[in-house]
Amino acid sequence: MANQDFPFIFERSKEGRTSYNLPELDVPEVNLEEELDDSYIRKTAPNLPEVSELEIMRHYTGLSNRNYGVDSGFYPLGSCTMKYNPKINEDVARLPGFSHVHPYQDTKTVQGTMEVLYDLQVSLQEITGMHEVSLQPAAGAQGEWAALMMIKAFHEANGDYHRTKVIVPDSAHGTNPASAAVAGFKAVTVQTNESGLVDIEDLKRVVGDDTAALMLTNPNTLGLFETEILEMAEIIHGVGGKLYYDGANLNAIMGYTRPGDMGFDAVHLNLHKTFTGPHGGGGPGSGPIGVSEELAPFLPKPVISKNNGLYEFDYNRPQSIGRVKLYYGNFGIYLRAYTYIRTMGAEGLKKVSEYAVLNANYMMRKLEKEYDLPYKQHCKHEFVLSGKIQKKLGVRTLDIAKRLLDFNYHPPTVYFPLNVEEAIMIEPTETESKETLDGFIDAMLAIAEEAKTNPEKVQQAPYNTIVKRMDEATAARKPVLTYKEN
Ligand SMILES: *Cc1c(COP(=O)(O)O)cnc(C)c1O
Repeated sequence: MANQDFPFIFERSKEGRTSYNLPELDVPEVNLEEELDDSYIRKTAPNLPEVSELEIMRHYTGLSNRNYGVDSGFYPLGSCTMKYNPKINEDVARLPGFSHVHPYQDTKTVQGTMEVLYDLQVSLQEITGMHEVSLQPAAGAQGEWAALMMIKAFHEANGDYHRTKVIVPDSAHGTNPASAAVAGFKAVTVQTNESGLVDIEDLKRVVGDDTAALMLTNPNTLGLFETEILEMAEIIHGVGGKLYYDGANLNAIMGYTRPGDMGFDAVHLNLHKTFTGPHGGGGPGSGPIGVSEELAPFLPKPVISKNNGLYEFDYNRPQSIGRVKLYYGNFGIYLRAYTYIRTMGAEGLKKVSEYAVLNANYMMRKLEKEYDLPYKQHCKHEFVLSGKIQKKLGVRTLDIAKRLLDFNYHPPTVYFPLNVEEAIMIEPTETESKETLDGFIDAMLAIAEEAKTNPEKVQQAPYNTIVKRMDEATAARKPVLTYKEN
């Protein structure tokens, strides 16, 4: 059902209305019935809206005005790194020399493009401290899966068919156990201790000679640095397992430390998070993976190599898990990430982590006055509050999130990680000013005050949005994908 004052594009349709005038045909018309097999010819016309060009413009401009993105306001969606996407990235991605390249073009004719791919690989190798990188996977989750398939291939090449388990912390992102399952492993949980870190004793309990890998992010999903990471690496390697790094939190450590130096064997990066690719309805993702020398033979192919100054696609990888993405991955996102890395430089990327961590700690210390902070130590680039004080007043974390909409903020991530009651996960990122952080802090404190004095006001929020509360479960499970008249 469309919003009363904002019809669907189909509802704007009037028979016979068009947006274009093509010139008269000056070549002989093709008779499809003669050229094509009958089974390929549609029997009924597609149900497309018939609207004028002006109506199309108004429709989509209107929709974009109702949208909320990083360009319109603060978006502290923990774990997602919703930082500003510099517009110079867009200029570079649109250069015709890049945007007009065909994926099947002879690589000798597109050496500049190949150089970008190669240099990006080398930069990511350097940033992560890994031996070799494949840019191919389409997003973080696919990177997780691809790297787990490589770990599986590695174990099988050693005759280790009994390594069926992948260990994930109870605070892990949902994609971790999901990728493990899709790759054919059984996901086993390791507990978080009272300091918000992996419980080493529990880790020792769950590892064994059936361990294929441990999946971990550092800082972890609570925004806390796993200080015992070297000991954890020793435990996993000691039983012959591999250490997988979920790189979604790289924004906290870039330039300071590297997963390779912490003992990780495989990593994925989210170019659409750390490296300023637009995301959240803004475009495709990209999840390159980096691996140790031992795992490198199993990388997806083709691998981009440089021989005697010539860049080529190397298909000669007999142990490769194969191709995981059409062509060479989401090239447009590579260009944006490459531009970002080149404009920032090594010192700039280090500053990114510095400010991301500073901003998060500043907010955390201001907000812990009114919200429960389950883990007290300094955080990295994000932190997790609990709404349990407000819950006692009858105000749930979801109510707080909805009330934030009235203050014109995108709410933080809520009810994740799962091991924190009424979780509120805030990631400000480095690109926000102190004024923006203060504005959000003020709104959060005002809502905490309302929860005490007028809880109903928070429970009924939002008031200033185009639609009120939606049935989110139904919206996610039964999306309206088609529109049919009656
Ligand atoms: C975003 C995220 C992922 C998954 O990445 P996608 O690119 O969305 O597939 C995995 N782990 C963590 C911690 C994340 O924040």
